[in-house]
Amino acid sequence: LFRLLPYITQLNNARSQLANSSASVEIVADFLRRDNKPFIKNGSLPYKALEKGIDFQKVFFKYPGHEDFVLKNINLFLPRGTTLALVGGSGAGKSTLVDLVPRFYDSTTGSITLDGIDIRDYDVKSLRKAMGIVSQDTYLFNDSVRNNIAYGNQNATEEEVISAAKRANAYEFITKLPQGFDTVIGDRGVLLSGGQRQRLAIARALLQDPDILILDEATSALDTVSERLVQAAIEDLSRDRTTLVIAHRLSTVQKADQIAVLDKGIVVEIGTHQELVNKGGYYSRLYSMQFSESPEVVFAHNEAIRE
Ligand code: ADP
Ligand code: MG
Repeated sequence: LFRLLPYITQLNNARSQLANSSASVEIVADFLRRDNKPFIKNGSLPYKALEKGIDFQKVFFKYPGHEDFVLKNINLFLPRGTTLALVGGSGAGKSTLVDLVPRFYDSTTGSITLDGIDIRDYDVKSLRKAMGIVSQDTYLFNDSVRNNIAYGNQNATEEEVISAAKRANAYEFITKLPQGFDTVIGDRGVLLSGGQRQRLAIARALLQDPDILILDEATSALDTVSERLVQAAIEDLSRDRTTLVIAHRLSTVQKADQIAVLDKGIVVEIGTHQELVNKGGYYSRLYSMQFSESPEVVFAHNEAIRE
């Protein structure tokens, strides 16, 4: 959702008209579908919760109106409750891959199934309601901190909002804001740091308690304290939850149950951190460069060396 930033203002306007909607993913998707997103055929099965896992089978994808496939023959299985980390250079296809799960786009050929059922057979609204998306640029509205956190769960009590803020390591900075939880944030209110924004997004997701979590970690360096707080909150959020993470932090990558390395739309390596290090391929070269702050930076550097 980081690429949806230009739409924030319009979303703010759209939001007041959508007061009864509960899932933020759905709202963003609805909004986008108006102009630059393809029409998506709805299914009829209500989606409840994952039992076995998410299966990508021979997934190929090209953006409508474009020639080249940006995902080629993706085969992945993500067992329920586990974490899959995606790493790779800028433009490798990581964001596109995760966008297919809430059906922002549908694969051109191949399928994604949840417990063996094609995602296109599920009612898309119920599907998206079960998914939480957290990124550094998660849209925050010109609204109070409280409403921003409660956005995915309008029935949340004050205690639940506070508890989510605490678990997200956001409580302390919130209570230091001029009006605490009533402080209005965004361009008409207090501006927050990248790490603070991300922790609010995590608090929102904790409250939403999504069945499937999609995480896009910050590429830009956070200060050390923020970094540690965000990291701890992300671990809490993704624990025992089926998680797809576009990973930029070595710590996240190392802890993932599986790491898929993407290069030009192809999964070139897959395994655990240790397996990939032992293999001595692309990932291990990345690792030996210590990831710096972001794999995308290292990959870009590798590209430069190759050319
Ligand atoms: P990553 O997240 O790994 O940086 P992306 O999934 O954003 O990669 O992009 C993969 C490829 O798809 C890139 O070549 C990018 O230019 C292209 N792409 C991304 N979004 C669109 C879009 N909306 N329309 C057309 N091409 C796109
Ligand atoms: Mg991306």
